[in-house]
Amino acid sequence: MTTEKLNICAEALRRHHFETAIVETTQEAFELMKKCIGEEAPKIVSFGDSITMRKTGIIDWLRQNGDWTLLDGFDPAMPRPERLEIRRKALLSDLFITGINAVTTQGTLHWLDMVGNRIAPVAFGPRKVILVAGRNKIVDNREQAEERIRRIAAPQNIARHPGFRTPCAKTGVCMDCNAPDRICNTRMEMLRCHPAGRILVILIDQELGL
Ligand code: SF4
Repeated sequence: MTTEKLNICAEALRRHHFETAIVETTQEAFELMKKCIGEEAPKIVSFGDSITMRKTGIIDWLRQNGDWTLLDGFDPAMPRPERLEIRRKALLSDLFITGINAVTTQGTLHWLDMVGNRIAPVAFGPRKVILVAGRNKIVDNREQAEERIRRIAAPQNIARHPGFRTPCAKTGVCMDCNAPDRICNTRMEMLRCHPAGRILVILIDQELGL
């Protein structure tokens, strides 16, 4: 991935009213997120699970700092119904952070979600949203985005969660299944950011996440 492609992607996102930054490392992404959180002064912060986001260290930092309440809907010590209730509350957080499955050089963002807790607060609810994505998430168009999610993101995500009984859990290949454990349930494509600047997209010039 060339820097040129990252620049094209960032410019397209800006044209579509996303606030956008390119950084070299997860550490720079972390610093930028801290700055944004400082400016927003949120009372309630939450997040949707993302390998890239966790790699920046922002969740550990949020847990140990600030005047906000951190809604953690992924605490393994909690029973699942309790975790889901926290994810419902995250819809009304002031600031929400998560990752992206694919970003196109045409300036659109793409996800495929199991529960919907990652995509719903991105679409509406929190006043500010921060999204992080490594350069490996950049593709040229919607078809490539959907292909990337189907071939790479979804099967590899299943591999992180032992106990899911889906065809891809056995073979690593998507069979467009109808299994009760299917993780590919709701697709979201974000075409523009409304209101302008509500979403900050941080593109990291590293291979990160699924
Ligand atoms: S549709 Fe089914 S088989 Fe395909 S990636 Fe999703 S869970 Fe796996």
